[in-house]
Amino acid sequence: MGSVQIVTTILAAAITAVAVWLAVRAVLKLVAVIRLGQPAPERFDDKATRARTMLVETVGHTRMLKWGVVGAAHWFVMVGFIVLSLLVLEAYFEVATPRGGLPIIGHWTVFGLATEIIGVLGLVGILVLMAIRLRNRPSRPGGRSRFTGSTMWQGYFVEWVVLLVLIFGFVIRGFKVATDHFEYPLWATPVSHAVGAVLPDWQDGVSVAAAIKIIISMTWLIVISLNVTMGVAWHRFLAFFNIFFKREPARPAGSGLGALRPMTSQGKPLDFEEADPEKDQFGVAQVEQFSWKGLLDFSTCTECGRCQSQCPAWNTGKPLSPKLLVLSLRDHAYAKAPYLLAGGGKDLTGEEKATAAQLAHLDVLALAEADRPLIGTAEEGGIIDPDVLWSCTTCGACVEQCPVDIEHVDHIVDMRRYQVLIESSFPSEAGVMLRNLENKGNPWGAPPNTREDWTKGLDFAVPRVGEVDDFEYLFWVGCAGAFEDRAKKTTRAVATLLNEAGVSFAILGEGETCSGDPARRIGNEFVFQMLAQQNVETLNEAFEGREKAKRKIVATCPHCFNTLGNEYGQLGGEFEVVHHTQLLAHLVSTGKLTPVQPVDGGVTYHDPCYLGRHNRVFAPPREVLGEAIQGELTEMPRNSERSFCCGAGGARMWMEEKIGKRINVDRVEEAMATGARTVAVGCPFCSTMLNDGVNGKGAGEQVEVIDVASVLLRSVKPEQAQGDKEAAPVAG
Ligand code: SF4
Ligand code: SF4
Repeated sequence: MGSVQIVTTILAAAITAVAVWLAVRAVLKLVAVIRLGQPAPERFDDKATRARTMLVETVGHTRMLKWGVVGAAHWFVMVGFIVLSLLVLEAYFEVATPRGGLPIIGHWTVFGLATEIIGVLGLVGILVLMAIRLRNRPSRPGGRSRFTGSTMWQGYFVEWVVLLVLIFGFVIRGFKVATDHFEYPLWATPVSHAVGAVLPDWQDGVSVAAAIKIIISMTWLIVISLNVTMGVAWHRFLAFFNIFFKREPARPAGSGLGALRPMTSQGKPLDFEEADPEKDQFGVAQVEQFSWKGLLDFSTCTECGRCQSQCPAWNTGKPLSPKLLVLSLRDHAYAKAPYLLAGGGKDLTGEEKATAAQLAHLDVLALAEADRPLIGTAEEGGIIDPDVLWSCTTCGACVEQCPVDIEHVDHIVDMRRYQVLIESSFPSEAGVMLRNLENKGNPWGAPPNTREDWTKGLDFAVPRVGEVDDFEYLFWVGCAGAFEDRAKKTTRAVATLLNEAGVSFAILGEGETCSGDPARRIGNEFVFQMLAQQNVETLNEAFEGREKAKRKIVATCPHCFNTLGNEYGQLGGEFEVVHHTQLLAHLVSTGKLTPVQPVDGGVTYHDPCYLGRHNRVFAPPREVLGEAIQGELTEMPRNSERSFCCGAGGARMWMEEKIGKRINVDRVEEAMATGARTVAVGCPFCSTMLNDGVNGKGAGEQVEVIDVASVLLRSVKPEQAQGDKEAAPVAG
């Protein structure tokens, strides 16, 4: 070993020792903070499916590849990071001796070839990612960047480290070529040979370049160890765990969508008959009241901003960005952690748990952080502003987009639950809706005995459950479908089409009450449970004696469809629920309904969030429309998984939209830009919101917003559709 090798070896050993010590400390800190969360025992079930899903999503990059170029570039960088870590290990042999290499595989041509290819592709990948980050930097003139609010230096730092480590990998090999110590043939390692051709014949070059490579790599490890909230780097390790522990790992996509998680206390679902707010946790009021999976979510955020780029609230000038919300919770959790780890925290009555002695040596900043309310305005020192919390439509675009499976909607609703149930703090205008739900069983406060009024004037009888027993489908009409003029037309259209197709169905009539979706999404789990239990009881009675496959329900409202199909199971109600567009598509494809007159003028389709993203029903409404117009749909730029919310979900239908541009107006502008004269929808709330948007733009004469069922009825029974149009005038 020459003097140069003695120096490079000492340098490499010293910086590695420091980096490893700091990294161990950082990992212990991360684990300690994540363990502060509440139990989540359900995250340990079905480990085989979890492992499979984790491998598919990470190795296959299935979620990342939804953004093709970024996904492909990131895949090469990820593979480069894993495989080329072996070359960092090899550098420890090279600092000691220029002829050094990895034992066993270090002289194998296949290893040389594989690392050469991965090195080149990794270089291309990281340059692409760097270009994308630069092109989308928040400081660029014009436009809203998905990186707005991200810690940009961290992204640049990580990317430069990857670039330099890759470059120095080739420099080391180049020096080996130049000094004739390289064992791999030219055909397997052409880039290394090309680099070697321009490097001098310097014997110590290999050791010096290897030392630089180790110093860069260990500097990276030191920096991320000193910054445990640096998700852009830590996600390389945490993403595997976050994906493994995601909820519903068997779901093909959007695992955090569909059903909301039940309210839990100490990891167990809360039973409202026995729950006591002084003993049980009602929602989330402190960051440590999230489950440990919530804290793992916050720690894993890469700050990529994909969620932000799709969020309807953020895109219309509201203060909510799902990314910034996650980052605020993460930073708060880690800043408060020393206080919590010292034994601090408030019990459920608000009393401090720690003794003065336990808190005596704490940093004042940690103590100050512990005093900040989780929900509060900037003046109150709040972590999350109430306007942020209440801007969410629970559309799920953030969950759909997140490459590391963060479950934003659950976290937002958990915080709402505490605000509504314990603080009674929510937008006051939504109070009327909640009162109506409690008193009348529907959000409009309509008299329950008018639930069947929509059947008046139909030329066939609509039977009630009980009057007939052998119905195939229970037609769940929903509150909008029963009381709201425009939605009533959809209800009539569906009933007419089912009757035309010879489908036997029955309704609950006055026996139906609100599914509870708006109560649950606003955070009033108590009212949701009350309504849902009543409905589950009624439905179980209606289907008594039937196996699950024959407990079929068809619903026109995606919110009811989602709640009945995905959430009633939490209360003992197991049903086969379909959306009316799915049933209609089936009836058309099996020849039970025959479109005869093409609907012309151009049709575009708006995907309702709770039908599309939350439940993956994208094709059936398009199939129905394709048959009805006997041609191609005109798609909006934001469609299917990336559809843009109408603004009504998450109980936003009953809140005023005071900040920024109206979401429905943004969507209507996009729909109108397609030139289509008909905007087809599959949800009564979307119908109301988009109609309001069209009317607000004074375009009611040029553009019509109607349900898919009404479009089909026009094609199947043109005269009937015209008659119904006249019989049931549209309100507003
Ligand atoms: S659910 Fe929709 S509105 Fe809410 S934060 Fe996510 S993207 Fe934004
Ligand atoms: S998409 Fe996921 S990882 Fe990316 S910024 Fe949003 S929450 Fe973080």
